[in-house]
Amino acid sequence: MEAIKLSRVSKYYHQGDQVSVGMKQISLTFNMGEFVAVTGESGSGKSTLLNVLSGLDKYEEGEMFIFGEETSHYEINDFEKYRREYVGFVFQNYNIIDSYTVLQNVLLALELQDYPKETRKKRALELIELVGLTRQKNQKSSKLSGGQKQRAVIARALAKDTPILVADEPTGNLDQVSAGQIIQLLKTISKDKLVILVTHEFDQVKEVATRRIKMSDGEVVEDKQLKTYQSMQEKPLVKDT
Ligand code: ADP
Ligand code: MG
Repeated sequence: MEAIKLSRVSKYYHQGDQVSVGMKQISLTFNMGEFVAVTGESGSGKSTLLNVLSGLDKYEEGEMFIFGEETSHYEINDFEKYRREYVGFVFQNYNIIDSYTVLQNVLLALELQDYPKETRKKRALELIELVGLTRQKNQKSSKLSGGQKQRAVIARALAKDTPILVADEPTGNLDQVSAGQIIQLLKTISKDKLVILVTHEFDQVKEVATRRIKMSDGEVVEDKQLKTYQSMQEKPLVKDT
């Protein structure tokens, strides 16, 4: 099932009279169930692509379809709604409050999602267990290691239960072992979701990725299906607000 489709989408950055190309004329289709690795050198446009796909950044040319819906007319609040309901973010330290414990951080994410108050704690503990942080649940986030913090970010992203998960260099500052664990965790939780992961170390994800997209100078220079994936037939459940 098609989740996101880009049709000749371009994004430029304007600074005074300076215009730099973030990405140009990109046409791509992403389906539910895919685990996409976006690779390329620094400055090639990976983050730009991810930020446009996840509604963090606007684009100026072309059309992006989200579950079939056009977005070129979207205003800021439309993209906010899209991000809130459809996209989980796994960016370094994303939305983690250092002075909160792991449990408090996950509880907050559930609260922001209007998750029912009575079952919130139960759900938070389930998510914490899923990412392997049960022993650290009452620890302040500032006291976590890099890998543990990234697990907390993932627990928060999961609290949103979105059909799309985006990750920008999620293993960036981690040692080899923690990096491998984070990738495996992302694989485990990505079933039926669309995962788009930016990395400059493709080797780390080559075993789990179903597709590799390589960028250079704001353009896609390679788009390769690596293995088959299970495509969901029915629409993902997104709550109506
Ligand atoms: P990557 O994530 O692959 O390192 P980016 O998407 O961050 O690449 O950047 C692509 C291009 O867009 C680069 O030339 C970069 O300098 C430019 N760029 C990215 N963000 C901005 C910004 N906020 N303002 C101006 N130029 C930017
Ligand atoms: Mg980047």
